[in-house]
Amino acid sequence: MKKIIIAIDGFSSCGKSTLAKQLGAKLNYIFVDSGAMYRAIALYFLQNNIDINKDIQVTEALKNIQLSFAFNNEKGSSDMFLNNINVEEQIREMAVSNNVSKVSTLKLVRDFAVAQQQQMGIAKGIVMDGRDVGTVVFPTAELKIFVTASIDVRVERRYKELIEKNSNISKEEVKNNLQERDYIDSTRAIGPLKQAEDAKVLDNSHISREEQLAIALQWANAIIHSI
Ligand code: C5P
Repeated sequence: MKKIIIAIDGFSSCGKSTLAKQLGAKLNYIFVDSGAMYRAIALYFLQNNIDINKDIQVTEALKNIQLSFAFNNEKGSSDMFLNNINVEEQIREMAVSNNVSKVSTLKLVRDFAVAQQQQMGIAKGIVMDGRDVGTVVFPTAELKIFVTASIDVRVERRYKELIEKNSNISKEEVKNNLQERDYIDSTRAIGPLKQAEDAKVLDNSHISREEQLAIALQWANAIIHSI
């Protein structure tokens, strides 16, 4: 059967990665969380005090960054590695969340990440989620999904996730972070978050993960069986 590329984009914390991961498992496709790559780059910049306003520092830093994913059998999903160190937990912390969108506005950073993402899709059979996957990374993806959910639903989900990890955070902080990232991500000059013209919109504010997966799977199978 022919393999396709599935691009999933949308605002912060609207369940893109959950959907992409489930779709990948169902279709036996590779799943790539492109946001994890930007988070790992932001973590490196924080650890090494890189001044994002200085191109020379950014260029040098990127030369020292090696990104890779490795499957975690226990979790049933991939962990992000930065220079061969598992940073999956660290990249989800607020210090990174509060910096990643600024780092992601840089052309040097986007060129670096996008080139690697495109490489991963050469053989197709991939589900990637992010902000510019359907518009910049894979503009010819056979299936593009733009996921949305109301801000209150997104805050609630993210807050619950962080609290479960013992994070000492308020709903207010979560909401501020989501809104700030959405603003920076949608207004940046390069690869802004926007719905591709040919994307199918999936609003999951009031549907379960299972219902969301069923809808997306139906879309994917209709395309896979028609090519
Ligand atoms: O998907 P996630 O929320 O983990 O992404 C973290 C951040 O990485 C986003 O807020 C955005 O600034 C950046 N990002 C991006 N392009 C992507 C994926 C993520 O700019 N394709």
